[in-house]
Amino acid sequence: VVTSRSAHGRGCARAAAAALTRAARCTMVSSDNGAAALPVGLRILDGGGSALDAVEACARMVEADLSEHSVGRGGLPNVLGEVRLDAQIMDGSTLRAGSVGAVRNCCHVITLARRVMDYTPHVMLVGDGAERLARELGIADAATPTTATSSTAPATSSSAAGAAAGAPLLTADAAAQWRRALEQQWPGLDTHSPTAKWRESQDPQLPPLRRWAEILRPRPVLPDHWFGTVNFMAVDQHGALATAVSTSGWGWSYPGRLGDSPVIGAGGYADSRYGACACTGTGEVAIRTAASRSVVLYMKMGMGVREAVKEAVSDLLDLRDPYSAHINIIALDKDGQHAGCSFRPEKMYAVMRSGEAAAAMCPHHNPHPWHTGEVGWLQCECADILVPSSTRRELLHPRCGLAIFCHYSTAYCLIFSREGTCGCGLPDKHQRQTDDVNKQARL
Ligand code: ASP
Repeated sequence: VVTSRSAHGRGCARAAAAALTRAARCTMVSSDNGAAALPVGLRILDGGGSALDAVEACARMVEADLSEHSVGRGGLPNVLGEVRLDAQIMDGSTLRAGSVGAVRNCCHVITLARRVMDYTPHVMLVGDGAERLARELGIADAATPTTATSSTAPATSSSAAGAAAGAPLLTADAAAQWRRALEQQWPGLDTHSPTAKWRESQDPQLPPLRRWAEILRPRPVLPDHWFGTVNFMAVDQHGALATAVSTSGWGWSYPGRLGDSPVIGAGGYADSRYGACACTGTGEVAIRTAASRSVVLYMKMGMGVREAVKEAVSDLLDLRDPYSAHINIIALDKDGQHAGCSFRPEKMYAVMRSGEAAAAMCPHHNPHPWHTGEVGWLQCECADILVPSSTRRELLHPRCGLAIFCHYSTAYCLIFSREGTCGCGLPDKHQRQTDDVNKQARL
């Protein structure tokens, strides 16, 4: 092919402009605890690397951070004091995905999930099988067993620099939190040997394990140090999308519990033709509505990213489960537009694009327009109790069966009814008359 010099020049300019446009689309979005890792991901994307490599590299950084008690080494244990990690990764261009659950011997479960995707014909491996794969591939980097009763927990654990390969996943900080949670419920409990005691089912003094998991169940209104997950989404120079999710799951949960994080379509999903989505919070409800897949599907059906997220929140509210209000959703579309939705007014997510020096924190959209921060009173529909909205608790009304759930309640309350009414309460600083409050409490 022979071209004149000027034609060649114009061609180069066009190619450069196209490359610039593509590069400008490189965007990463993460849950708030992933913000510090985003510059690492952006460097990969700006260098022409894939979205998949970027999200994996970012998740690995957080997994190694001992001060992050929701992910990787340093994560919170289950009720037996064992740290078990879950993760998923998804390539939006091929819809290939890999996930692992209940892993004890590998801190970088995001990489293990990617190996499941790349090296096996499967999508999901859990427990022994996942741990075996980690050993086979030489990426088992944590000592097991990792119970809080074990003396192998390192003495110090607050450094953000990570720990030597081979150290247990359970750190001294996380073990101390686990002990405190148990001892608060049962003063005098010997937390150095509860695992052994629980196995002796004849002991009449000890409630069965499922009762303990229930006692220690985080109330939806508690601050989320019981929970936590890190999510990353990226769109690269080629327009490919990927998602990575990594977590130690719900603290003090029943052994064997898996949340949404390793479930493709629940905790995360990516399809480069439309967008990507990931969730944090109480995974049970995100599994029930297939929340992440739903968001991407809503985008496929023509909704914008924000509208799609709001629609998924409305699916969650349809469950009429107080835990629905403990879900945070973030999403990124193929053009780099992003949105987040959370019932917690203070909750943020992080975004970083090519050319930016650091991640920017963005507020989530709040599902209800009335999160005014006012404190007041709510009334249930059968009109015989008043709940101060500053009370941090759930109530199940004995007569009408209305569950009144005051969530981060200086800001707002949610009302879930067995009859199918799902309402919201607007706190009223002037404590208006019952009728007015009741009117406002209904949607
Ligand atoms: N979604 C995680 C789980 O259910 C926990 C969290 O994000 O807080 O395991």
